[in-house]
Amino acid sequence: MAEKSVIIIGAGVAGLTTGIYAQMNGYKTQIFEMGIKPGGLCTSWERNGYIIDGCLHWLVGSSPKSGMHHLWQEVGAIKDKTIIDMDIFSRYESADGKTVTLYSDVDRLATHLKEIAPEDSAFIDEFCAAVRHFAEMDIPADKAPELYSPLDNLKMMAKMSPFMGDFKKWGKMTMTEFAGRFQNPLLRESWLLFCPPEFSSVCLLMTLGWLHTKNAGYVIGGSLELALNMEQRYCELGGKVSYRSGVENILVEDGKAVGILLTNGTEHKADYIISAADGHATIWEMLEGKFVDSTIDNYYKMPIFQPLVFVGLGVKRVFTDVPQMVSSLIIPLDKPIKVGNKENKTLGVKIYNFDLSFAPEDRTTLEVMFESDFSYWHELSQDHALYKAEKEKIAAAVVSALNKRFPGLSKQLEMWDVATPTTFYRYTGNWQGSFEGFLMTPENMNLRMKKTLPGLDNFYMVGQWVMPGGGLPSGLMSGNHVVQVLCKRDKRKFKVTTA
Ligand SMILES: Cc1cc2nc3c(=O)[nH]c(=O)nc-3n(C[C@H](O)[C@H](O)[C@H](O)COP(=O)(O)OP(=O)(O)OC[C@H]3O[C@@H](n4cnc5c(N)ncnc54)[C@H](O)[C@@H]3O)c2cc1C
Repeated sequence: MAEKSVIIIGAGVAGLTTGIYAQMNGYKTQIFEMGIKPGGLCTSWERNGYIIDGCLHWLVGSSPKSGMHHLWQEVGAIKDKTIIDMDIFSRYESADGKTVTLYSDVDRLATHLKEIAPEDSAFIDEFCAAVRHFAEMDIPADKAPELYSPLDNLKMMAKMSPFMGDFKKWGKMTMTEFAGRFQNPLLRESWLLFCPPEFSSVCLLMTLGWLHTKNAGYVIGGSLELALNMEQRYCELGGKVSYRSGVENILVEDGKAVGILLTNGTEHKADYIISAADGHATIWEMLEGKFVDSTIDNYYKMPIFQPLVFVGLGVKRVFTDVPQMVSSLIIPLDKPIKVGNKENKTLGVKIYNFDLSFAPEDRTTLEVMFESDFSYWHELSQDHALYKAEKEKIAAAVVSALNKRFPGLSKQLEMWDVATPTTFYRYTGNWQGSFEGFLMTPENMNLRMKKTLPGLDNFYMVGQWVMPGGGLPSGLMSGNHVVQVLCKRDKRKFKVTTA
């Protein structure tokens, strides 16, 4: 079989996955990555002996019973890793000392919520039934949707039809509407803090379903180790990653993608070009907006995950008195913290008391995230002194707020680090600094996005910008699927080799 070559742009989870499956299937591949390490958004960084993790809260497909699990194994991501499932997803502590806990176990969650708000029992039963139902659903991950035959479509419809009622009902309900269904003011207030208001409530209910079945675990060691595992797998299969190799343009001849031009002026040619980099930059910069129609234009009008101001802290303290949580402990603020143009009345702190590899002995890494707007930080970053001062101000406000909840913390502080939307943009090139691509909303939740562009052959896109909701599974599935499409096109039987 003649060896065909593939150039992949970006060594995030999507790019690495694409490279791994392409190598398994006899393609000669090379990944060009503008940064210096693998992972893209799925990364961690070290400051003063502490690890700050920029991604992994939960890994969908962590359960061996899940249909996605074998994909994580095939790409080597979870090789030799310990995966833990925590009892609590998130907790809100109100100003008057009340607590709402999102337990991972749905029965415990229902009991807890009904204790707080017996008046909401009917609604609690209603949505917990949906969580239990979604818990039974396995995301169809194996076959590329582009290759579905009419029979596959029928089988898929049969498989998904038991869930369509719940998808219809909860899919079109935003989190604002969901929270509004509670009569109890504490529950109304807290549910709006667990998820973005415009999010389709189905996303949260599905996540709770995965947590209930222990299919959204945390991988000890965190994001970068997961990405390094994948890089190792890719290299063992014969792939090559070139770092510090930013792609400026995708070269096109006669309507076919034929290669890439790097920012250092060198050109590289291949039979196929696959962009696993930011979608907007791929379409409007690397391809100069020449292969766009109204469908593509409309994609980029969908709401995106707002970028983050991300505060990492290292404290000489342990938090054995705080339960381990997948996500954050949310606390009210006496004095709002202004981040960009937004006043924040609460703060969510992620306490890494479940991953001791992140801090030296008797110490803990903490992380606090605020949604913010890209343009504010982009403008501010033009003035280095002002930008630095604003970051310092936010870090100080966060430490002061945490010191109220955890007295003595400010004196135990050994490290602080603030990343802004411009940091995310600088390191990963993601549009508007977005950390997960397009939000899954009631309007787009059934959207099957194209991985090709009109008028351009031999070119594909993968990753968080081709699947609303983004996240690590979007890179895993789209990377696998695009190689299936190549194999079909080249009349090869798609195959998988195990490590
Ligand atoms: C704080 C945070 C928490 C998160 N939590 C979770 C979670 O718990 N679970 C989950 O599933 N997901 C989570 N995510 C989302 C997840 O990290 C992303 O959706 C996923 O990593 C995106 O992968 P990707 O490969 O599609 O894109 P990216 O990771 O953005 O990879 C793109 C790569 O392309 C490179 N690149 C860009 N432009 C160029 C160019 N011109 N030339 C060469 N290379 C280029 C970039 O440097 C990057 O390495 C989280 C993200 C963040 C930031």
